[in-house]
Amino acid sequence: MKESLEYYKAQRKEDWRVALQKKTKPKERIAKTRVKMPEEDPKLRSKSQFIEVNKGLTQQMAEEEASRCMDCPVPTCIDGCPVNINIPKFIKYIENGEPLKAAATLKESSALPAACGRVCPQEKQCEAKCFYTIKLNKPAVAIGNLERYAADYENNSTEKVTPEVAPPNGIKVATIGAGPSGLAFAGDMIKHGYDVTVFEALHEIGGVLKYGIPEFRLPNKLVDLEIENLKKMGVKFITNFIVGQTRTIEQLREDGFKAFYVASGAGLPRFMKIPGENMNGVLSANEYLTRVNLMFAGSEEADTPVLKGKNVAVIGGGNTAMDAVRTALRMGAENAMIIYRRSDDELPARVEEIHHAREEGVIFNTLKNPIEFIGENGKLTAVKVQHMKLGEAGSDGRRRPIPIEGSTEIIPLDIAVIAIGVSPNPIIPNTVSGLDISKWGTIKIDESNNQSSIDDIYAGGDIVRGGATVILAMGDGRSAADAIHQRLQSQQ
Ligand code: FAD
Ligand code: SF4
Repeated sequence: MKESLEYYKAQRKEDWRVALQKKTKPKERIAKTRVKMPEEDPKLRSKSQFIEVNKGLTQQMAEEEASRCMDCPVPTCIDGCPVNINIPKFIKYIENGEPLKAAATLKESSALPAACGRVCPQEKQCEAKCFYTIKLNKPAVAIGNLERYAADYENNSTEKVTPEVAPPNGIKVATIGAGPSGLAFAGDMIKHGYDVTVFEALHEIGGVLKYGIPEFRLPNKLVDLEIENLKKMGVKFITNFIVGQTRTIEQLREDGFKAFYVASGAGLPRFMKIPGENMNGVLSANEYLTRVNLMFAGSEEADTPVLKGKNVAVIGGGNTAMDAVRTALRMGAENAMIIYRRSDDELPARVEEIHHAREEGVIFNTLKNPIEFIGENGKLTAVKVQHMKLGEAGSDGRRRPIPIEGSTEIIPLDIAVIAIGVSPNPIIPNTVSGLDISKWGTIKIDESNNQSSIDDIYAGGDIVRGGATVILAMGDGRSAADAIHQRLQSQQ
């Protein structure tokens, strides 16, 4: 829950904060340049799935960057954070040389700070609302990099921060899906004292954080540490359990669960529906990334098969496409390319991911749209693409791609990975009668509290938004936890 401005103002007047404010004059803070995140050499990192691209800030770098923060009386950065992290407080703890207290502050609002510090699009959220961005037109305080620093410091330290948990109240609540949305919900409900069980269809906990986002951006072991923390707080996890198949929501109600948070994500791949798409060599980004990230197909020891090829094209321009194409590069592709129907300027992936992909040698074939996969004996050998140009902006504000009549090209290919979007996982929508579902298959909710058309079922994350971001999914989990807590308390 977001605190009042008075609350933040009172904290800002605490002695240690005032001492820091006096230590460095605002003019000196503004004159500093944003500390750059150290990165691994692109030639080295593009050879391994397991080398992280961003190397993290040192203590000195983190304290220097934290000293840019003005500790604003009206911290607009918090308005840009869907989980309402107390941003100035955690940053000032870093400036004060107290990273464990910074980590504790992060954990008041976020169950996954090490993950969010790595993958959240801060440039569109908290950093877009930072005083430096909106008033000075200068690079924002590197809030995401500082979040990562504090979370990593705690993970590497022998001292651990476990948030306070209220005494158990014995009321059973269930989360369906162990992605970021379900984990954020579980983290808040356990703090309120509920008996929380997270049901997960896969054998691993973490959702897209584990099966989608690659190791070189977010190592699985860090996600595991954050899950360990939730286990320590008392959250129960049951894996290999498909709600709707293993047991239905109706049966779980009989088992004593008083409320449900559906966070089952959008893991159903979409295909292009063009000729040749069922050929050997064409697969979805979900399948490709799951094989490599969750089933370790990239490592020598694993027996999971995965397609490898010299010429690999990933169709699409979002974060999933960037992850898939950079994975292909690390799996040995000589030509790893993006094929995207709009221009470079419209690529929807994070700017940082596009920049890293370019540095690593990914080829960007923009303004090209696949119209046919070509093969021999059922095996992919090429893709025929239609050349495109940009027309007027559509209702979403993006310029529409228009085919250039008669202008096509054949690109030789061994593998094509389709990354053009995902649809909601259908099991819950298909097995709960009376649940209002949109025409896209997402669960309809009351946006003020994430409640579905059924009283005791709440929903959030990608199953509602149809493919969004980690932090929006987490924000939904927090808002549903708040609403369910109020509802269940009013029934006591
Ligand atoms: P998910 O993470 O999809 O988790 C849902 C979980 O529910 C899954 O584990 C699934 O197995 C489980 N489940 C489904 N049905 C059932 C059932 N019936 N019973 C039990 N369990 C079930 N976002 C960013 O902010 N930054 C990024 O850099 C970024 N990169 C991405 C890269 C890729 C490759 C992908 C695919 C997505 C990326 N995203 C990114 C988007 C982000 O990961 C999602 O928006 C986010 O994970 C959604 O969280 P969620 O908890 O709603 O769903
Ligand atoms: Fe610091 Fe920027 Fe937030 Fe102000 S808006 S408190 S400068 S992070």
